[in-house]
This record gives sequence, C-alpha cells and structure tokens, in this order.
Amino acid sequence: MAAGVDKLIEGYRRFRAGAFQDSKPLIQDLVARGQRPQVAVVACSDSRVEPATLFQTDPGDLFMIRNVANLVPPLEEQGKFHGTSAALEFAVKGLGVKHVVVLGHAHCGGIKAMMTADTDGGQFTFVTHWVSMLAAAHRRVLATMSGADEETRTRACEQNAVLVSLENLTTFPWVRERVEAGELQLHGWYIDIAEGRLSVYDGAQGKFEPVG
Ligand SMILES: [Zn+2]
Repeated sequence: MAAGVDKLIEGYRRFRAGAFQDSKPLIQDLVARGQRPQVAVVACSDSRVEPATLFQTDPGDLFMIRNVANLVPPLEEQGKFHGTSAALEFAVKGLGVKHVVVLGHAHCGGIKAMMTADTDGGQFTFVTHWVSMLAAAHRRVLATMSGADEETRTRACEQNAVLVSLENLTTFPWVRERVEAGELQLHGWYIDIAEGRLSVYDGAQGKFEPVG
C-alpha cells in the first residue's frame, strides 16, 4: 500500500472492528428508513476543517457539502455542472433540512487565492474562477480597512465570504420560500482552526460573536 493511504486502511480496520460495531444499529436504521439530517453544512475542502470532529456528530446528523472556500454560488441556470447547487437542492428539497450552516474558517487557502489572484502567476484556472464570485464584495470590504494589517484583512475576507454565501443562498427560490415560511434557517459560522474557537454571525449586530 502506498504511503499516505496506509493510514486510511489501518483506520478502516479499526473502524470496522470498533466504531462501526458500536454504531451499527444507528447505521442500519438510517439505511432502512433513509437519512434524515436536520442540518446541511457548507464547509471548505481544507483537510484541517472536519465538521464531524468539530461538532462531535454521528452518521446521519450532517449533510455535507464541501468545496474550495465553503462557497455557495448564486443561482445560475445555464447548462453547466453545478455540484454545490445540486447538493443544496437535494438537501433542501429532497431531505427537507431545517438548517443550512455556512462554515468559514481561518487560514483558508481558497480565500488567499482570491486575494492574491493578480500575483499568483496564473497557477490556478478553476480555483481562480470559482473564488472570483467573491471579488466585488471583498473589494468593498477591503476599501473600508485600508490601514489594517494583512492578518486582519484576510480574516475579514474569510468572514465576508460567509456572508456572500448566505446572500447567494437566498437567490435560490426554494431556499428563499422556505426561509420566509419559517421552515429553514440559514447560519453563518466561522472557525478559527488554530484556536479551535467557533464564532456565529449575529445579523442584528452585524458581526461574528464567539460561542461561549
Ligand atoms: Zn478553506
């Protein structure tokens, strides 16, 4: 077995002997009756952001949607392949989740790519295009904080990306209708991965507040 995946196979063997046996009744119920998650999470593909670990959830709890920089694109109906929109549609229309959590994080490579797109020497094609959905909003944010250091600007861009995704969520009519009917709640969360600290966006105050 190649180095790197050895750890996965060893982990699988431990899972099969231990955790799987413990959760077998739950898994078999989820198979027999179908999954019924209450929450969909849009998280980054970043290997350091692990929602199931972070929130200590079980199989069946979270419908996971992961992509570069935890983004929800705006509604686009052209004949393209929209992976994130398809996953959202399935979660909201198919499974009837009650909550969609957009989980941003500190030290996000995707946000960094957006902020350095002009100077990265054209390294990325798909990443650059994907994160360009943030460009206009981020220009507006950065224009208000010209004196701030790089770290502060980056954290502001990461948090603002969460707000852009929340806004984009409401461009999907089947999201908007359910939110207006009180059947679906949208949440903007942000994890400082180095500190393991979660903040939650408070719409009334217009800022992220740490969870006590
Ligand atoms: Zn990220």
